[in-house]
Amino acid sequence: MKNAKPVSGPKFLEPLSFERSRAGRCGASVPPPIPQAPTTTQDLPAALLRQTPAGLPEMSEPEVVRHYVRLSQHNFAVDLGMYPLGSCTMKYNPKINEVTAGLPGFANLHPHYPWAWTQGALELMYNLEHMLAAISGMDAVTLQPAAGAHGEYTGLRVIRQAIQKRGENRQTVLIPDSAHGTNPATVTLNGWKVKPLESGPNGYIQASAVEKLMDEGVAALMMTNPNTLGLFEPECDEIARIVHAKGGFMYCDGANLNSLMGRAQPGKIGFDVMHINLHKTFSTPHGGGGPGAGPVGVVQALEPFLPIPRVVKTGDRFAMEFNRADSIGRVRAFFGNFGILVRAYTYICEMGGEGLSEATTKAVLNANYLLARLRDTWHVPFPKACMHECVLSDKDLLPAGIHNVDVAKALIDRGFHPPTVSFPIHVHGSLMIEPTETETKETLDTFVEALEEIRKLAQENPQALHDSPLSTPLSRLDETQAARHPILNVDDK
Ligand SMILES: *Cc1c(COP(=O)(O)O)cnc(C)c1O
Repeated sequence: MKNAKPVSGPKFLEPLSFERSRAGRCGASVPPPIPQAPTTTQDLPAALLRQTPAGLPEMSEPEVVRHYVRLSQHNFAVDLGMYPLGSCTMKYNPKINEVTAGLPGFANLHPHYPWAWTQGALELMYNLEHMLAAISGMDAVTLQPAAGAHGEYTGLRVIRQAIQKRGENRQTVLIPDSAHGTNPATVTLNGWKVKPLESGPNGYIQASAVEKLMDEGVAALMMTNPNTLGLFEPECDEIARIVHAKGGFMYCDGANLNSLMGRAQPGKIGFDVMHINLHKTFSTPHGGGGPGAGPVGVVQALEPFLPIPRVVKTGDRFAMEFNRADSIGRVRAFFGNFGILVRAYTYICEMGGEGLSEATTKAVLNANYLLARLRDTWHVPFPKACMHECVLSDKDLLPAGIHNVDVAKALIDRGFHPPTVSFPIHVHGSLMIEPTETETKETLDTFVEALEEIRKLAQENPQALHDSPLSTPLSRLDETQAARHPILNVDDK
């Protein structure tokens, strides 16, 4: 870890709340206990009682407020500036979403309430399932999975169940080299093996390559469409025909639905299963972990295998159905991240069908505008046209010793969140830019100017780029240390 400048002062030094703690300092006024009241000390077995008080930080209220406000300012947010993190669709989250998700009738629901008390929530889930089915062209949808990766797991479990039911033994899944890392991970978690599939010279998967690898041992092909280069897979129909002819299933990684919704339906171009990242396509973008939601849509033949419970409607009443013999079972406690479902439902209702198509059009237009402005000065592996994101590489900067990370860090100093770097992995030194529909032309122009300035600096003063970012409390962090050697206890520091 390298600090770009001497650090002092509260903007730069933010100790842990535990380090700030001073015995006896307090941020709350609690009434004295009622003398006659039974205490938990009397009710609990002695073995369960603490011998020493819990080591909680003791701080005043203003200290707590400042601590968290400062931490929030150390972070970048979609409400602060452009967040062109490719593949992640960090679009603006309309504030009305927060209002609806916070309505007491939704926010205070207990999952064990009887159906009679939760009709509104069940109706919302039922309607959202049907909206997502209409958008994706699938026949049935479950809202249960908690994220895209979890949706992938659920979708492949459904396929595995269908294959078992047929009495077949298939062991592999075809995964393109452009796939997100969660795809092979999902295959492994489901007990299958990855069969790698190379993209063709134009950046998309060729039907002829699938033809060579497809056999009766292949359970499915997982395809991201448009793929992670931001290119629509033009041979998708033909590939689906080849996979289906050998009894395999077509899985669509729907993370890029932001460039299809209202325009094309994966369920109508040969896919049998797809997941949808509500926290990408339908607002509520998140960084650092969640919560999200990864609903899964399937064709009719796979509907019996979806997780239980299913939301059902009889007359005008809603309920949950548990008794389904072929279901893969539950994939999550209760019914998923309900607050995220409310936000996605709000977003879809607010936009309407036409609004969603328009969002798609503008997302694709914005990405192509960036591509058009950048392709003459930057190395762009596939410069013709893109869908909702475009991929540059650092190839032309390498002679000056500048890599994609240097560009990413320099963008932080110019007020932008960096694009995705080094993914997709089959493009060396990639910078993957997804502006989303929510950015204005002025913002896109400022972003292009920042990239131009960085490109010129690479020629004239590359050292300045190696030192960036200079505007943050810490400069270059060791990006793997925290994952490899986590410090989970303050005493271990
Ligand atoms: C984001 C993403 C995923 C995984 O989704 P999560 O919701 O982050 O689990 C899978 N594939 C692609 C192409 C993605 O962009």
